Amino acid sequence: MTCILIMGPPGSGKGTQAGDIAARHGVAAISTGDIFRAHVDADTPLGHTAREYMEAGEYVPDSVTIDMLRDRVDRPDCEHGFVLDGFPRTIAQVGALDELLAATGHELRAVIALDVERSELVDRLVRRAATEGRADDTEDVIRRRLELYADETDPLLAEYESRDALVRLDGSGTPAEVAERVAEALAVRA
Ligand code: ADP
Repeated sequence: MTCILIMGPPGSGKGTQAGDIAARHGVAAISTGDIFRAHVDADTPLGHTAREYMEAGEYVPDSVTIDMLRDRVDRPDCEHGFVLDGFPRTIAQVGALDELLAATGHELRAVIALDVERSELVDRLVRRAATEGRADDTEDVIRRRLELYADETDPLLAEYESRDALVRLDGSGTPAEVAERVAEALAVRA
């Protein structure tokens, strides 16, 4: 019945850590980026809407993103809790998540923010571009995604800090090293 958020800039390893936490705790991992990419691949109406924003490195509009997340959290695999990777990214999404948690009886257990230096982020994203070929991993779009994170999403961490929910962690090192830091931080907040 708990919700854990993984926040951090593009390339900080949110998806990897969300998967690890979900496996350790037996809860669902929800990546809004993965859901949008699946819709783009399946050529659905939602995919059509999302695609132009994603390819430009812009955020998909709040109304679209929030409706999609509500539907996802309604599914039975979220009954025992879920980890969110890539949501919320805007102040409107923070409010929508608060309402959703209140309505479903889930409690916000922790917000894990992964800190990674900018040069390391760019290196990781460029390396990922070579292996995964994501349409938004080009140099210009990477720059825009990092800028948007700094302008729109990083300021949201202050809100969670004021609620005493924020845990800032060093996101550098191997995925296993970071997973160990995350697990320790969550054990303390159990
Ligand atoms: P990254 O964190 O590396 O930028 P994601 O896979 O989380 O990548 O997201 C990819 C893209 O999907 C984003 O650049 C954005 O266009 C869209 N997206 C994902 N989550 C959200 C969200 N919560 N609000 C708006 N757009 C989103």
